[in-house]
Amino acid sequence: MRPIDLHCHSTVSDGMLPPAEVVARAAGNGCRWLALTDHDDLDGLDVAARTAAEHGVGFLPGVEISVSWRDLTVHMVGLNIDPACGALQQGLEQVRSGRAERAEQMADGLARAGIGGALQGAYRYASNPALISRAHFARYIVEQGHARDTGAVFKRFLVQGKPGYVRHEWASLGDAVEWIHAAGGLAVIAHPGRYRVNASGLQDLIGEFRGLGGDGIEVITSSHSSEDYQRFNGIARDAGLLASVGSDFHAPEESWMDVGGVPDLPLLATPVWEALGLDLPAPDMLASGVLASNGTAMAGPA
Ligand SMILES: [Zn+2]
Ligand SMILES: [Zn+2]
Repeated sequence: MRPIDLHCHSTVSDGMLPPAEVVARAAGNGCRWLALTDHDDLDGLDVAARTAAEHGVGFLPGVEISVSWRDLTVHMVGLNIDPACGALQQGLEQVRSGRAERAEQMADGLARAGIGGALQGAYRYASNPALISRAHFARYIVEQGHARDTGAVFKRFLVQGKPGYVRHEWASLGDAVEWIHAAGGLAVIAHPGRYRVNASGLQDLIGEFRGLGGDGIEVITSSHSSEDYQRFNGIARDAGLLASVGSDFHAPEESWMDVGGVPDLPLLATPVWEALGLDLPAPDMLASGVLASNGTAMAGPA
């Protein structure tokens, strides 16, 4: 495992564990640097930072911003942001404001497809109603026996062209980069392998992002295949972007990659933690036990 995880979720958005439990779980998995990156909300960062300090885990305040780009929803992670930044807070408030209306429209579409009670059902799963999301609908739909897991729900009901999908205008790519930079953070395109876009569209997205001053892309993340690892390693290196890694953990039973359990696969571009100046021993040194034998690798980050 690589002892760093720069993308995960708590009950502040659509995760199943409260922020403190997410951090404790990551620490238990050997994580030494963690970023909590809830969707469009900064509320979990205080308690997560305190819990991380108790566990000797280095903590990076983060966020995952929903962005509309062409006809796609793209996610952008902000790393090492200042949660007190007014421009970021106001931007996120604006992004959150459309969720309740979208949820009502989603429930209408699902009702027409024979799934009743979805609005109330989804809100039952949303600890923070302001962040009502597709994942909450997915959990309700699984509970009702319409699909075997949340991945199947997304494919059958919640993506473009399916009954529960509602197009929504999120932040623009430029706004998201600007808010993250205003807060002193690094802007990273999340799970680029997940977007339904062909090679030239992806090139456009990356090009536009770079032109706006974007900093990095995720290379190792739970929704990427081994081909994706290779592909985005190459793209990051060729575009001069930083490479990031993160589990995108939401719940113990929903992902094969646990929080703090990101596989230690090679990165070809400069890792984002080097740009952040994190004091992280090289993974091969950790694996060989060279540092552990003299004690330095076992010391938690300051
Ligand atoms: Zn995402
Ligand atoms: Zn995420």
